[in-house]
Amino acid sequence: MCTGCWRELITCTGGDYCSHCGKDTSVYGLLDGACPDCQGRDFHFDRIARVGLYENALKKMVLAFKNGHTELNHKLSSLANSALQGSGFYDDVELFVPVPLHWSRRLMRGYNQSLVLTKKLNHPTAKINTDLVRVRRTKYQTSFDRFKTWEAKRAANVAGAFAVRWGHNFTGRKICLVDDIKTTGATLNECAKTLKQAGAAKVFALVLAVAGQKP
Ligand SMILES: [Zn+2]
Repeated sequence: MCTGCWRELITCTGGDYCSHCGKDTSVYGLLDGACPDCQGRDFHFDRIARVGLYENALKKMVLAFKNGHTELNHKLSSLANSALQGSGFYDDVELFVPVPLHWSRRLMRGYNQSLVLTKKLNHPTAKINTDLVRVRRTKYQTSFDRFKTWEAKRAANVAGAFAVRWGHNFTGRKICLVDDIKTTGATLNECAKTLKQAGAAKVFALVLAVAGQKP
């Protein structure tokens, strides 16, 4: 991917977005900070920051990053750092928690792309914490696309899939979850729910790409 492509992409999709779902929206379309799609919906994570939409050059880069091209982390983390610094919650973050993979999937892939990305985030005080674990292997989220009630299916797929390591709690901590892609938000939501049950005061989310802008 040439430098020109991803710079153009940032200009196109790095503009205004809803801080609840991460989808593109006009600031004039926000009510209480949320887009029309998010009205009346409750998320366990408090706000989200993202680099762009899961399409075009960013989609190719994120997919390649997930499939062995870890050298792309240099560019992707640079973009993620910009999104983080512009998020409005940058100063609040105390811990970065990468969304965990199940150990079997991590073994197959050889790395957790979210942890690789997290290690390149710049922050003067926040630490990386890996005490959130995936205790149940879930199906690939994309395998549900043929279902009509796909959001509900995805939520059910990740329900109870995460836990905090025994003896660790997050009481009063302000956490930023880090992941590569947000699809319906079910994974982030379940992770945030688990962290809040463990005492977290705030859970933000930082992702590279947000999918699902188009039906
Ligand atoms: Zn929204």
